[in-house]
Amino acid sequence: MGFVVAVDGPAGSGKGTITKLVAEELGLIYIDTGALYRCITLYMIRNKINLEDTDKIQEMLKNINIELKRERNSDKAYLNGEDVSIKIREKAVNELVSQVSHVIEIRENITELSRKIAEGKNVIMEGRDIGTNVFPNAKVKIYLDATPEERANRRLKQNEEKGIKISYEDILENIKFRDNNDKTSNVAPLKQAEDAVYIDTTKMTIEEVKEKIIEVIKSKE
Ligand code: C5P
Repeated sequence: MGFVVAVDGPAGSGKGTITKLVAEELGLIYIDTGALYRCITLYMIRNKINLEDTDKIQEMLKNINIELKRERNSDKAYLNGEDVSIKIREKAVNELVSQVSHVIEIRENITELSRKIAEGKNVIMEGRDIGTNVFPNAKVKIYLDATPEERANRRLKQNEEKGIKISYEDILENIKFRDNNDKTSNVAPLKQAEDAVYIDTTKMTIEEVKEKIIEVIKSKE
């Protein structure tokens, strides 16, 4: 196992933005595990695969190929060779991804894939269960948090920059829905690992959170 920094927290806690900045500054490989669940969700929507249809899900997992690539300073997700980076952020995916991530076969598959992507590399990996389940022996564990309202605001701004149109109310509702789903999941629920450093980012700037994480990483190197 290379050097692993695990960053967990709810939707909109700043994980994506900040983890990327830390990766750049410290030369770590950035891995967004949420994008992996989103790719599977998009595939299931397109192919009308039901959450309860275990046979079809198992077949899908054999045929699906997901790749995360860094291209011209942006992070891309490929689903069976197609660039789906924008499509996986759309409303239909937001609404289904939590339930998809609770399907045990899918969780096991993505957990394995996440470990494989990180194999032998120095990585910073963000998600919901990285410090608790994917890499319980990670050298550094961070748990980022913020109020739901602040997280919805951040997501709104991010979406606007990407040209994705979803209202603040819809975003807030979806964030609360996913929080509840992710925290009450029977399989690998979202919770802070005992040895994770908790950071409430509600009143912090991106720069401040980035510096705080770098400080934690340097103290463990
Ligand atoms: O991080 P993001 O919001 O893109 O993740 C989308 C969804 O994927 C989350 O709401 C959660 O249900 C699921 N997820 C997960 N475990 C991870 C990463 C994401 O269950 N490690």
